Amino acid sequence: MGTAEYESGLLVIRSHIITYGSAATQSHTDEIRDEIETMWNEPQGEVELDQQRLRVMFRITADFLPALTDIEIYSNLDPRNNYFRIEEFVRGNISFVDGIGCNSGYFKLENLYKGSTTAAHEYGHTLGLDHPEDLDLRGKGVPGIMYPRGTLVDARFQYDTSKPAGTTGGTMHPMYRKVKKKILKCSGCRNWISRQARE
Ligand SMILES: [Zn+2]
Repeated sequence: MGTAEYESGLLVIRSHIITYGSAATQSHTDEIRDEIETMWNEPQGEVELDQQRLRVMFRITADFLPALTDIEIYSNLDPRNNYFRIEEFVRGNISFVDGIGCNSGYFKLENLYKGSTTAAHEYGHTLGLDHPEDLDLRGKGVPGIMYPRGTLVDARFQYDTSKPAGTTGGTMHPMYRKVKKKILKCSGCRNWISRQARE
């Protein structure tokens, strides 16, 4: 989640990441912040608002709060805050957020290596973006950030380029995902921005 504000020709999206949990550290927190801000600014997205073309700029801040309590999360009223718990073991063995457009989630430590794109993907869910329906991207090039693990891709984007599609090693390696302009213009995001503008 985050706020969207008009600032002299820019639409600035501000989000604040708060990490906690027994595997969270300051350096993971810094890496998550950097990955989200870098990847979401990379495509230099634009939106049209009241017939004006605005550059979309993501400004992400982060805090590592190891002593955070559940009451503090439940009583949060700041729309910029996103709470990510980081643990070595996760139910279902995969990182997740608690819902589309939701500001809390659970990250598996193993999914958070540098360049993993996990944090940027989960952040997309907090903005209201779901996984695409068609998970066969063969012949369609670089996968967008919202494609989940298991997506079929051209061999060069697989975990193992020598494996047949769909077999172990023959699915998308998340490190190849990119935030693309097409994703920024999806219905979920646009609804959210126009809703902010009306209120
Ligand atoms: Zn996902």
